Amino acid sequence: MRELSDALLSWFDQCARKLPWREPASGTRCDPYAVIVSEFMLQQTQVSTVIPYYSRFMERFPDLPTLSHAEEPEVLKYWEGLGYYRRARQLLKLAKTLVFDFAGELPQDRKTLLKLPGIGEYTAGALLSFVFDLPEPAVDGNVLRVISRLDAKAYTMGDVKSQAAVRERVSGLIPPHRAGDFSEALIELGATICLSSSPLCHDCPMSHVCRAYQQGVVAEYPLRQKREKSPVSRMSYVLVHDGTHVFCRRRSEALLHGLYEFISLPRKYKKNDGEKVEEAMRKMSECSKLPFHELRYVADKRVVFSHRVWELSFWELRIEGVESGFVFQDKGDSNVLAVHRQALESMAFPAFLAGWRDAFLAE
Ligand code: SF4
Repeated sequence: MRELSDALLSWFDQCARKLPWREPASGTRCDPYAVIVSEFMLQQTQVSTVIPYYSRFMERFPDLPTLSHAEEPEVLKYWEGLGYYRRARQLLKLAKTLVFDFAGELPQDRKTLLKLPGIGEYTAGALLSFVFDLPEPAVDGNVLRVISRLDAKAYTMGDVKSQAAVRERVSGLIPPHRAGDFSEALIELGATICLSSSPLCHDCPMSHVCRAYQQGVVAEYPLRQKREKSPVSRMSYVLVHDGTHVFCRRRSEALLHGLYEFISLPRKYKKNDGEKVEEAMRKMSECSKLPFHELRYVADKRVVFSHRVWELSFWELRIEGVESGFVFQDKGDSNVLAVHRQALESMAFPAFLAGWRDAFLAE
């Protein structure tokens, strides 16, 4: 056991990546706020993608009190393109809870942490070990993979029982003198050496104690959960504008909640279905009585979420004479608002619409 942690820590001392949230802090091992923000951003997202988002976010919201006073639309704007927007909303809720209910302090016990917004078993362990250097396991997919191979045990990715078993196993491995480093080192090993496919076993500091490697069965570990086939939804988006104003809607649905989108139609229209799109739009905007000027097909797009797929077609409809703030009823459950085109820059759109919005703004 000691051999394993010594080998891992000495590798980590030499090879750890220099990451902005890993800077030492006074009073704690790392800055709690920096670790909170980075951990929320890193869920399901790679380090290289996160770094520029993290830097911009920290520049605008440099500490917990600043974030706790922010408005959700602005926080989402800083998250635009990173995906999994629920994390941004939960991070904002967490900041408010910590500032207003915990006097701005991060609790130092797992039980309390687990009751806070957006914090599950992994994040609780990461905060306790990275920030306070406590011997608490932080088991993400990387750690589960590494332990599964080191022990040649058939743990399953994403399986709650496997995660609990690996947490217990890791608890028994954490050296009391460098708990935070050990936690980070295990994750680092999984992220940079013990890769999901084609692990770099020849460069691995653990190969001498790795059972799967010794037995030549690395590819068998860990097990993967069988994935259900994702349901597919088909829709069309229409960017309706008069050159100066654009119709937008803020989503109230759980998926992409709080983000803006253009007008959507509940069918995917094909490239040569222009007349049908126009008909659907006329029905939708009956109350507006706005003259349609020109409709054109823009593109098709396939968007893959974690548990569903959207197949989309994009259209642009030019109309005439819209006043700012003009509103009409969309599907009876939400309002569509006409905003000045410049306002689009400060509104958060899902990544699959953001590129289209930017191209429109650049015209
Ligand atoms: S030897 Fe290979 S399989 Fe074992 S921990 Fe290292 S990289 Fe992973």
